[in-house]
Amino acid sequence: MPQQFDVIVIGVGAMGSSVCYHLAQRGVRVLGLDRFEIPNEMGSSGGYSRMFRLAYYEHGNYVILLQRAFELWQQLELMADQKLFHVTGGLYMGRSDSELVGGSCQAAAEHGIEHVILSHNQLADRFGQFHLPDDFVGFYEHKAGFLLSQPVIATQAELARCNGAALHGCEPVIEWQSDRDRVSVRTEQRTYHADELILCGGAWTSKLLASLNIQLRVTRQVMGWVEPSSTHGPFSMSRWQLGQFPVWAIELGIEAGYSGLHYGFPMTAGHPGLKIAHHFPAQLVDPDQVDRQLLPGDERTFRSVLRDYLPDADGPLRAMSTCLYTNSPDSHFIVDRIANVAHDHDRVTIACGFSGHGFKFASVMGQALADLAMNHRTDLPVGFLGLSRFKGN
Ligand SMILES: Cc1cc2nc3c(=O)[nH]c(=O)nc-3n(C[C@H](O)[C@H](O)[C@H](O)COP(=O)(O)OP(=O)(O)OC[C@H]3O[C@@H](n4cnc5c(N)ncnc54)[C@H](O)[C@@H]3O)c2cc1C
Repeated sequence: MPQQFDVIVIGVGAMGSSVCYHLAQRGVRVLGLDRFEIPNEMGSSGGYSRMFRLAYYEHGNYVILLQRAFELWQQLELMADQKLFHVTGGLYMGRSDSELVGGSCQAAAEHGIEHVILSHNQLADRFGQFHLPDDFVGFYEHKAGFLLSQPVIATQAELARCNGAALHGCEPVIEWQSDRDRVSVRTEQRTYHADELILCGGAWTSKLLASLNIQLRVTRQVMGWVEPSSTHGPFSMSRWQLGQFPVWAIELGIEAGYSGLHYGFPMTAGHPGLKIAHHFPAQLVDPDQVDRQLLPGDERTFRSVLRDYLPDADGPLRAMSTCLYTNSPDSHFIVDRIANVAHDHDRVTIACGFSGHGFKFASVMGQALADLAMNHRTDLPVGFLGLSRFKGN
């Protein structure tokens, strides 16, 4: 087994598997190392599904990245001849001046994203599953949906291998070094060398790069799957199924006693039920000491939303799972060559701080990271995600 590579990628999760695939496709000799199996549910990518939406109000450049990501997800499906990305439409609900609805409208207008605005009555006619306050409206976008997270990672890893990448699961990286001539990566098994290193360690990034000096807050998040009630006749269950029900998000607002967003997915074959979760940084944790069991209070993060706003879905709990957010200080991703801010690591690129909304970008991040490692630049608009924004903090 060779120990010299062009690029070593630490962490073969959502981002790492994507960049391994992009590099291998370009004929680059790449080694990907993960401390757990590939894929695994220990980091940020477990729990069956991840939402994809286009009308991103968080920054205009995210929309440009997502338009490319959408193409790449479709290409990945074609390459793999496997269903990985369900385009279901996306329904976002709240007051018209809420960040979610108002922001989505603005992003859609600026970027020409196909959508419709639904009045309260139209919303009730079309999506009667939701029981909403009178002043709530809907924004529906057509090209939203969800990705099957673990199959996506498995597929990216498989295609990377088919293109010549060496991917090692269950091989934790203990330390790495970079100097003017090369990078060296030591695992429990051996030491490898390469010209370039890409750090995609997710929740463990601060442990891999203590000198980064940027506060990444890892939080323990939960997701739940419930069984809707079937009291509305024999066809009532189909109202929640893939094909009938979109991905959705709702901003209830502080005045109703809620922070952040609640969001959910249609019922899908092979998944334990109707999925719902709360998008808001929860309890701070050490990724090596997370309590992955169900804790008192976990179910409360979404139960009252079901009871009050989706009452027909307020059925028995079928499953819960924990997962980790890695929150950057401003909730924007961190994607850059470290040399842009510190000359001691000339050969190192970093991708972290995906802050609970990164999965949908993994396909395009693979392309951007491959560009940054090989060409030290990319045409994709990732400059706003650079390290220099933290300089002086
Ligand atoms: C509950 C929840 C819901 C979410 N919902 C959405 C959503 O709907 N839409 C969306 O777009 N995003 C969503 N996200 C965010 C998204 O899932 C993450 O942004 C994305 O998974 C981050 O990918 P990653 O590659 O950085 O991390 P991961 O996929 O966790 O990969 C990191 C990898 O690094 C490995 N690693 C770490 N340290 C080492 C080491 N020392 N040696 C070797 N390997 C190492 C780990 O084992 C892991 O496999 C959600 C996240 C959570 C937790």
